Amino acid sequence: MSAPHARATMSGKAIVESQFERAADLINLESYMRRILMAPFREVQVEVPVRMDDGRIEVFTGYRIQHNGARGPCKGGIRYHPEADHDEVLGLATIMTWKTALMDIPFGGAKGGVTVDPKRLSKLELERLTRRFTQRISIVLGPYRDIPAPDVNTNAQVMAWILDEYSSRHGYTPAAVTGKPVSLGGSLGREEATGRGVMYVMAEYARDFGVPLKGSRVVIQGFGNVGSHLARLLVAEAGAMVLAVSDVSGGVVNEAGLDVPGLLAHAAAGRPVTEWPGGRAVSNDELWSVPCDWLVPAALGGVITREHNARRIDCKVVVEGANEPTTPTADRILEERGIAVVPDFLANAGGVTVSYYEWSQNLQQYRWSHERVNQELKATITKAYTAVRDLAKAKGVTLRTAAYAIALQRVADAERLRGN
Ligand code: NAD
Repeated sequence: MSAPHARATMSGKAIVESQFERAADLINLESYMRRILMAPFREVQVEVPVRMDDGRIEVFTGYRIQHNGARGPCKGGIRYHPEADHDEVLGLATIMTWKTALMDIPFGGAKGGVTVDPKRLSKLELERLTRRFTQRISIVLGPYRDIPAPDVNTNAQVMAWILDEYSSRHGYTPAAVTGKPVSLGGSLGREEATGRGVMYVMAEYARDFGVPLKGSRVVIQGFGNVGSHLARLLVAEAGAMVLAVSDVSGGVVNEAGLDVPGLLAHAAAGRPVTEWPGGRAVSNDELWSVPCDWLVPAALGGVITREHNARRIDCKVVVEGANEPTTPTADRILEERGIAVVPDFLANAGGVTVSYYEWSQNLQQYRWSHERVNQELKATITKAYTAVRDLAKAKGVTLRTAAYAIALQRVADAERLRGN
């Protein structure tokens, strides 16, 4: 992963809190339980000294925040970003709790971050940073305690270094981290899992709400891990038309449908999508106004806002591939305009779900086939989608509020059963 992460107009923590209250009211959650569920279980902040290639020592600040572990070990990615800070990491850790609960997988929620611009570091500096950060937080990690995964600007190689560092203290422990290279115990199907999960959720929504996926028009913001696998799968397996995609350089549009395999080869060569000859180049801003059936933000947080684009987005459904792409005020505008929003912690939960399969395979010391991974992912995410849809219908609320309500209820039940 390599995207810069835009700052939302509200902090991640504030977005999560405002959505939390709506759902907590729906299930009449007691005030003491609201307090338990909003507050993090444990926060670790560390200073990470790193010897740079020129001999100097630079010190970076790192965080690991475990939001809730009532339903199982904490689970969540580690991101390297110049704007990663306490509030962002806490907001993302909280979402992980709701995501794992909604998928009904036996994990809690956590997130980590180091405030660093990794593009400034050499590969060796990045490795030293990762190893030193792992040393400083390893006391709170472990396969039954807290299991990191990749996030923005971290990848399978970074997970391999974390595994090596952790195992050097505790013995060979592949289940201590997920999103590893397949040759080091990673799961088949993990890399495409988030995009694949988004497609499965879209297919279910399409069946229910009469927006057939086959032949329908899709616009995707972001052409990284989530966006590129989603585009590929939508065309190859669902028969949809991807009209437009974007990356940090801008977007490319073709109303007759982009040649996605060609565009993937172009992007794999490191070239911006705006230079693809099979479509018309547009700015990142113009992308939001391209008429479509499905709009999938799959790049950054806080990109759909009241001020910027919520009133001019021209689609039937927004499917949140990214984490927190829609601010709460924009969410309300979309609701008023009759545009459905499939929330992030349902739509993009494929990654953590297959991380769960990776962890299970490591504990069993057994490898699943790619087909089995896909089948189990489809079953798990479809079940979560169905529960959300049914509750939204029964209570007359948005999919987001219904998803939150289910997740809060599950975590609150676990807390009560444990004696809180
Ligand atoms: P990535 O780094 O692989 O790709 C991000 C893409 O967004 C790149 O194509 C980049 O060029 C593009 N981008 C950056 N700035 C942009 C801008 N201003 N306008 C348009 N495009 C821009 O990241 P990813 O793994 O695909 O993650 C994308 C989002 O999905 C993030 O919010 C992440 O937290 C979320 N997410 C990812 C996963 C996963 O498994 N990868 C799982 C759940 C959620």
